Amino acid sequence: MVLNKLKNILPLKKSYSITFKKIIEYVSKKNNFSQSEVDKICKAYDISKEAHEGQLRRSGEPYFNHCINVAYNLARWNMSSDVIIAGILHDVLEDTSLEKNDIIDNFGIDIYNLVEGVTKLSDIKFNSRQQKQAENFMKMFLSVATDIRVIIIKFSDRLHNMQTISYLPLIKQRRIAVETRDVFAPLAHRLGMWKLKAELEDLVLKTLEPKIFNKISRKLSSTSKQMQKYIDNFSNPIIEELEKFNITHTIQGRSKNKSSIYHKMVNKNKDFTEIFDLLAIRLIVDKVEECYATLGIIHQLYTPIHERFKDFIATPKINGYQSIHTTVFGQKGKMFEVQIRTKGMDKTAEEGVAAHFAYKEHGQFEENKDSIDRHVSWLRELILSLQNEENNPKEFLNLLKIDLYEDEIFIFSPKGDLFQLKAESTPIDFAFHVHSQVGFHCITAKVNGKIVPLNTSLKSGDHIEIITSDSQTPRMSWLKYVKTAKAKNQIKRWIKKQQEVESIKLGKEILDKALKKIKKPKLITKISDNPKDMGFNTIDSIYMALSSGKITISEIFSKYLESSENLKEVDEETLTEKFLRKARGISKGVVIDGIENAMITFGKCCNPIPGDQIVGFITRGRGVTIHRGNCKNIPTISNLDRLLNVEWNVGQKESFVVRLKITGEDRKHFLKDITESISGLNINLASVDIRAKEGIAIGYFILQIRDTRQLNRIINKIKIIKGIIDLKRM
Ligand code: MN
Repeated sequence: MVLNKLKNILPLKKSYSITFKKIIEYVSKKNNFSQSEVDKICKAYDISKEAHEGQLRRSGEPYFNHCINVAYNLARWNMSSDVIIAGILHDVLEDTSLEKNDIIDNFGIDIYNLVEGVTKLSDIKFNSRQQKQAENFMKMFLSVATDIRVIIIKFSDRLHNMQTISYLPLIKQRRIAVETRDVFAPLAHRLGMWKLKAELEDLVLKTLEPKIFNKISRKLSSTSKQMQKYIDNFSNPIIEELEKFNITHTIQGRSKNKSSIYHKMVNKNKDFTEIFDLLAIRLIVDKVEECYATLGIIHQLYTPIHERFKDFIATPKINGYQSIHTTVFGQKGKMFEVQIRTKGMDKTAEEGVAAHFAYKEHGQFEENKDSIDRHVSWLRELILSLQNEENNPKEFLNLLKIDLYEDEIFIFSPKGDLFQLKAESTPIDFAFHVHSQVGFHCITAKVNGKIVPLNTSLKSGDHIEIITSDSQTPRMSWLKYVKTAKAKNQIKRWIKKQQEVESIKLGKEILDKALKKIKKPKLITKISDNPKDMGFNTIDSIYMALSSGKITISEIFSKYLESSENLKEVDEETLTEKFLRKARGISKGVVIDGIENAMITFGKCCNPIPGDQIVGFITRGRGVTIHRGNCKNIPTISNLDRLLNVEWNVGQKESFVVRLKITGEDRKHFLKDITESISGLNINLASVDIRAKEGIAIGYFILQIRDTRQLNRIINKIKIIKGIIDLKRM
């Protein structure tokens, strides 16, 4: 029938390639296709062919073949003729003399927009460097989120390029394969285009690991007969039963793609035979009810493994995937994984978002639109979280990876609404998912009617109720177990804000006290009117810098006090204090578990300075006290949970200051010998203070040191100077 229709409509020119004729065949199978559509596709063929005339691919074949193959994939995926036409034209803007108006005049603005979108995507080159890659990711998402059809055309383009990759130089092959692995395959997965993802990943494996690829291929073909036997023995009883119940079905021994076999071998450290212990079949039936009937039949024939049962028909995955999964024990204890679904679900599973663009009967459009929106909204959410948060490409990449590879769980609100969350999400994740205010104040949760701790991992099917309290606020420890990016970001933001409030309070206290001490409380007006003198925009920033140790009281005084009224009190600062202040001034404070601007004080017992290995100890109400790692005053094991990992916030090239106390015989040239060894090592001597008493000289030397290696060298050098009695680092 189809062929008849075909004959009626076209006398297709003989010069059309076989691939192109197949495209027309696909298009004409659609119920509502028209001659004008076919004419338009043919016109695209003629125009694109002429435009690409004379251009060759690396393989030596005409460039235009690529364009037709790209369009062929799109036809295979049931794309509309507009998308197919855009596929035929996808490279004309970039590679030929055709221009915007040529396309608009012949095919209209919609098709032009598609072609332009694809051309824009082609400009994006992914670098092997992570950061660059992530930035490009973003651009890609941003530019395509408006029209997913552009991504689908790009997928088709990429698929054909991967299929013909062997003609490229090796270096280029690797780059394109890595990009396909890191960008296109995960995105295809996310959009539910499982078949494409598998195709791409196999091609990637073939390019990057040809030996392994060939080995797996050989194994597969050598074991295929035996596998088929197992599968037949398993399925025959099922088929008999299905026929009794008049259920029309198709049964497929599932082809595992080679890359997933490879990943199982690597990740789960299994060898070939182990992987093939788990056999898989797929049953495709007509109606949803028949899916469940089939499931019943299978569970009657074979013993199911309950934990492996998943009903993605009742609760579809985010990418639209629907199917029933069950694993049962077949003959001889062999395990079989069975997927049961309808034809429509199978199409969605194989083609994902692409399936929704395929022509369907009138009236189904709304439903399609919903599932398209679901995909697009995922992209939008990602983009949104990008714009909101500190724009850290590396973090974004991780986020993306997590979001891409982790499975979802499905849970119910008290009202029975269904929510999708990342696997292992906690009640806190759910709370933030509902609303940030619920998240901020959640105090406990009921799961299936029972009170549970907030760090409980939720499971699919759980009914959850969040209990809030106005007095509750987010805890730092929540960050350790929340799973969703949304909860993480909200908690971090809240803590940061809270720390700012605290550190402003502390800074204000410090400054008020100091002003009182020098009896100049009114100086505060001058400071808050002129924060710029200190290099800050607001007095709050000055408070924060003060409490985190980035600036000191004496620095503030020297800026805002007249030199005549200068600082009797501050002069009383001891030499040691002065040194510490100077030494610490080099760093921009201390970083606590990646969070800046925490309230910090330095332990008076060990006087840590930049370069020292340090730890933080949480003191109630006074923030974090910093001690040297080997300080004897660090509270012991019983307080382990109050210890924090902290680091000096010092750039790599910055030097740090060290103070040495050197004791020696008061002899001629003693000082000269020491300073010569110091300058001999190219070390900057910041200050010397030496005194002699009863034949003994005691000197304090402040040095600028690059690292501990340099410090050890200078210590060893000074130690052998004649007359040295003692040398201590203060
Ligand atoms: Mn192309």
